[in-house]
Amino acid sequence: MDETLHHRSLLSAIASDPSSTDELTIITKKVHAQYLANLEGELADYIPGLAKVAPDHYGIALGLPSGRVIAVGDAEIPFTIQSISKAYTYAMLLDMLGTDETAKVVGVQPSSDPFNTISLDARTHLPFNPMVNTGAIAVTGKLRSLLGANAFSKILEVFSNAAGRPLTFDENIYQSEQETGHRNRAIGHLLRAAHVFDEPVDEVLEIYFKQCSILVTAADLAVMGATLANLGKNPLTGKKVFGLDSVRHALSVMFTCGMYDGAGDWACKVGLPAKSGVGGGVLAVVNRQIGVGVFSPRLDSNGNSVRGQLTCARLAEDLGLHAFDSLNHGSSFLRGML
Ligand code: GLN
Repeated sequence: MDETLHHRSLLSAIASDPSSTDELTIITKKVHAQYLANLEGELADYIPGLAKVAPDHYGIALGLPSGRVIAVGDAEIPFTIQSISKAYTYAMLLDMLGTDETAKVVGVQPSSDPFNTISLDARTHLPFNPMVNTGAIAVTGKLRSLLGANAFSKILEVFSNAAGRPLTFDENIYQSEQETGHRNRAIGHLLRAAHVFDEPVDEVLEIYFKQCSILVTAADLAVMGATLANLGKNPLTGKKVFGLDSVRHALSVMFTCGMYDGAGDWACKVGLPAKSGVGGGVLAVVNRQIGVGVFSPRLDSNGNSVRGQLTCARLAEDLGLHAFDSLNHGSSFLRGML
């Protein structure tokens, strides 16, 4: 059997033989070694606090359905979650409102515009999708109107449940975004003017900047991803975090819109629902199988981590993770475990 074919059947093998997770560790280490020297890309500099982070960290983590986490390199270094938060606040809103009511707040249409574009869908007068800033701020505005002053603590609680440990946020990055986030404030006022929400813009933005400043590690992202892969139940703690419909809907939008302008390329090359953040994180979900978390802060011009994308593409290729890969053994992996 050639090496790639052997790797591709590995995920299903793990269900029957947990010792093969060691082989998965070896593959993950190999991918890490392959890209370790790649220092292409730049730090996000439009948020001064982010321009000061150490640029060369590189960590990869896989969250398995047993709750085990394979962590390689800088997988325990904390960084701000940034836009990866958008997928999880969206899942929260879906849980609270259902898909029909949520569709009155934000669409599900890829936009082909940069993530911070100040525009609404001309047909609906709503944000295109929840993965760009207009949509994410609309979601946060709606959460603010549903949850009142407790909105941020509820967001932190749900994110912590998805990660399987109590999370905190970075006060400095939060302040830095507060001081410089004029585009996001402009988006907030646009949304309020369009009656997407009727909350005070400054209060909505405070929550949005805080949610982007939540500190996670690549290992946390792997567990948060595994929670979505595991139909909304955290495999580490066994806690049910999101409902089935919300997970299906959030993963669908992550598949089409999660990587901004790079989403089409990503869908073909990697074939996984995913979300990136300008803090350098990339989270990918192999449905009913595993969560992948990568941290590497140097970004390409779309605002996606350079090594984060290379890592996910390599793992998808070597392990046959692409959703439409004929060798993806898919949901059989979890049979008997749900
Ligand atoms: N907090 C950042 C912003 O709103 C998040 C952007 C991102 O991660 N793409 O600009």
